[in-house]
Amino acid sequence: MLNCDLHCHSICSDGLLSAAELARRAVANGVDMLALTDHDDLAGLPAARLVADELGMAFVDGVEISIEWESLQIHILGYAFDRGDPALNQGLQSIRSGRIERARRMSAELEKVGITGAFAGAMRHAANPSLISRAHFARYLVEIAVCKDLRSVFESYLVPGRPGYVAHRWPTLDDSLRWIVGAGGVAAVAHPGRYKLSRADMRRFLGDFKDLGGQAIEVMSGSHTQEHVETFGRLAGEFRFLASRGSDFHGPGESHVDLGRLPPLPEGLQPVWQVF
Ligand code: AMP
Ligand code: MN
Ligand code: MN
Ligand code: MN
Repeated sequence: MLNCDLHCHSICSDGLLSAAELARRAVANGVDMLALTDHDDLAGLPAARLVADELGMAFVDGVEISIEWESLQIHILGYAFDRGDPALNQGLQSIRSGRIERARRMSAELEKVGITGAFAGAMRHAANPSLISRAHFARYLVEIAVCKDLRSVFESYLVPGRPGYVAHRWPTLDDSLRWIVGAGGVAAVAHPGRYKLSRADMRRFLGDFKDLGGQAIEVMSGSHTQEHVETFGRLAGEFRFLASRGSDFHGPGESHVDLGRLPPLPEGLQPVWQVF
């Protein structure tokens, strides 16, 4: 089976490597097909594609769109869309423009528990300021030794009910599918195992996603357990979704799964890359 890794991040969002470095690392790791899927931004795609073309690796334009569904923050991946599509680009721009204000409010919340300088501190970690994210705040909290690693940050800070969390309006599921499908792309649910949804609500969510034109779900993901892989493999079969595979690599030393180093998709599923 092809070694396809269809989910990773560059410094254009909250990754640690440039888009070109990522593509080089993917080739070195034996990846046959890579999709760069930065959060809410397409800026890294040309550089990654250039390196992929030079080194003979297949490359798919990608994006990971932040949305909310029933007040839960969910990520929808888009693949193989028209990169110049105006509605997609305007939609992503609207998400980015909300992030700076959110970051200021997060910083104000952290002040309340005595953590100062978080806005500037997080910004120092963000190569693309308009993509300031919780990951950059998390790196700052590790840097100033409030937490020992990113994992413990997301246990004690920046999540609902914890210091530094602020509610935020993200686009709807409907918006993200209009943008991706409208630009001729394929939409996939990112790491479905990560969402705190009951089994019934997950089915309802997947039904909504399918009704709106969604075609795929990530079955093999860097943030899935073996049990998640089995559960979402089954659901992919049941809902007739194409299956995707992605490490969600953010950077060396930070992500436990490197580019292209995931197990293959379970047997019997139709891989999403067959339609690219
Ligand atoms: P944002 O888009 O600003 O809400 O930030 C979300 C980002 O924070 C994700 O894309 C991850 O990179 C990071 N993140 C969220 N939860 C965790 C976690 N439990 N462990 C590590 N990183 C996380
Ligand atoms: Mn991220
Ligand atoms: Mn994600
Ligand atoms: Mn991701």
